[in-house]
Amino acid sequence: MSAMKWWGWGDDTVSFTHEDKPGLPPFLKHAIGVDVTRDVSRPVAFAQLRIPDSGVTASLWLALERAVGGDGLSTDAHDRVVHARGKSLRDLARHRRGELGRLPDVVVRPADEDQTAAVVLAAVEADAVVIPFGGGTNISGSLEARADETRPIVSVDVGRMNRVLEIDEISRLARVQAGVFGPHLESQLGARGWTAGHFPDSFTHSTLGGWIATRSSGMQSDKYGDIAELTRGLRVVTPIGPLAIRPVPSRSNGPSVREMVLGSEGRLGIITEATIHVHRLPQCRMILGYLFPSWGDGVAAMRDLAASEVAPALTRVSDAPETAFSFATRKAPTVLDRVKSGALSGYLRGRRGFDLAAMCLSFVGYEGSDRLVTAQRRAVGRIFARHGGLCVGRAPGVLYDQKKFDTPYIRDYLLNRGALADVSETAAPWSSLLTVYDRVMSAAREAFDQLGATGYIMCHLSHSYHAGACLYFTFGFKPSARREPLDQYDVVKSAIQQEFVDSGATLSHHHAVGTEHARWLEQDISAPAVAALRALFEGFDPGANLNPGKIVSDDLPSERVQGTGPR
Ligand SMILES: Cc1cc2nc3c(=O)[nH]c(=O)nc-3n(C[C@H](O)[C@H](O)[C@H](O)COP(=O)(O)OP(=O)(O)OC[C@H]3O[C@@H](n4cnc5c(N)ncnc54)[C@H](O)[C@@H]3O)c2cc1C
Repeated sequence: MSAMKWWGWGDDTVSFTHEDKPGLPPFLKHAIGVDVTRDVSRPVAFAQLRIPDSGVTASLWLALERAVGGDGLSTDAHDRVVHARGKSLRDLARHRRGELGRLPDVVVRPADEDQTAAVVLAAVEADAVVIPFGGGTNISGSLEARADETRPIVSVDVGRMNRVLEIDEISRLARVQAGVFGPHLESQLGARGWTAGHFPDSFTHSTLGGWIATRSSGMQSDKYGDIAELTRGLRVVTPIGPLAIRPVPSRSNGPSVREMVLGSEGRLGIITEATIHVHRLPQCRMILGYLFPSWGDGVAAMRDLAASEVAPALTRVSDAPETAFSFATRKAPTVLDRVKSGALSGYLRGRRGFDLAAMCLSFVGYEGSDRLVTAQRRAVGRIFARHGGLCVGRAPGVLYDQKKFDTPYIRDYLLNRGALADVSETAAPWSSLLTVYDRVMSAAREAFDQLGATGYIMCHLSHSYHAGACLYFTFGFKPSARREPLDQYDVVKSAIQQEFVDSGATLSHHHAVGTEHARWLEQDISAPAVAALRALFEGFDPGANLNPGKIVSDDLPSERVQGTGPR
């Protein structure tokens, strides 16, 4: 893997282009008023960044050097800039402009749990701030230090702890170091015939520890579970000593400490190791595309599928705007493709009565033995037929599988063209999903109107559960030059997030709280729950050294437990 861009998403050598996607330029022009030929904004050159000297004291440096050795410490400018933030739109927009915020003073790379413990001890003794760093891909403001932080900041990059230590083949559990990146985890497991089955869109650049610390979800969560389900055992270095959760399948020993570590965003300690579920590599894997006449039909089909016993690995349906976007990002079709798609459009309109503008694209992923996959495909076909669904074969699924790790590069491409694009996602019960969807779409459109901007919002349903599913919204618009772009972004993002909690959904299904979503936490989980979280953080970290200000902002006094509960 080549180095991650300091100013954007992904490998330095890869970028998004419209050159091979003839439908995209007219789509972007119409949807958000972007002329793709006009590259209007570029990140400042690294050499032009104003990087303050590291504020690490001589005594802290010595203590850290004793902990990890000289080669595990860095005050290199690029290292400090990369470790300062994650990859939220706000992070990218400010980094590109050279507004770096409060940089870490030193990046430390411990090689094992003992070194990690020595780092935490040294930092806490020096009253420094410790910010654990995995892949730096979070989009929730979970890494950035407070701008007014006066204590030295130690970014603890866990990337050297990257090995699968042991596979218990009988229990189907793997003991894995927390700094392993997705591809390296899968290659180590795959070499022995196993998979963890956790594939977030950020898979290539995110780590096991980061997934756990943000309660991540992968695209095949319908089969394998979210990281919260597939994490059994944990080892965490905390300021009050090592925390160890045994990897038992279930337990009845009070409120779950395992659950407290999940989603803790570095506030309790540094996760050094986890024991996770693993599965045998599937004999057969396939993603099929389906079309539904409308969003309502697609959602109803997903609900019926979740209520059935079929349990495919991946279920997803896009609304009509996202379906239009997917078609616009297709590569140039061959003559045969054109003939086929003309015939399909004719069939859908003429024989099936589809309104092509309302049509919704869906994917279902199947994994397992050949026999299981065949039986699942038949069962899904029967359920979808009840809702007007039509299987369109493997081609769209193959394309989706290929594109899924490339699409993230589009945000930088749009920023270069003066447009802002981002995501907000939530989860809600089946009975209210369509209402949440309608209310969020209206709220976003009102926000675009308020800004006088041509905006686009689209959505898909994914990650289905017994009781509901995740709704994942993507929005984009071109901000006016007369007002700070990030203020305009906040108008849209806040309108969407507020509508989530106002309509009974949650502030995020899998992107964590960080600082980005902390404003809505009390409305989501109630004031006593926020007070309990604050007390938890204070209990583990009495000096507020560990990633302060994330999840629960520390400017609110802990005794404040009055207030509105979740609506
Ligand atoms: C393009 C894109 C696509 C994405 N797609 C998905 C997706 O499909 N599903 C999904 O769930 N998320 C997705 N995300 C969000 C992000 O990838 C996840 O939040 C991911 O889990 C973060 O992992 P990381 O290793 O990059 O953590 P980081 O960003 O480095 O850290 C995130 C938080 O976890 C803490 N942390 C990291 N490692 C440790 C550790 N070892 N111990 C304690 N705390 C730690 C950090 O202090 C920070 O608070 C996406 C993000 C982007 C930019």
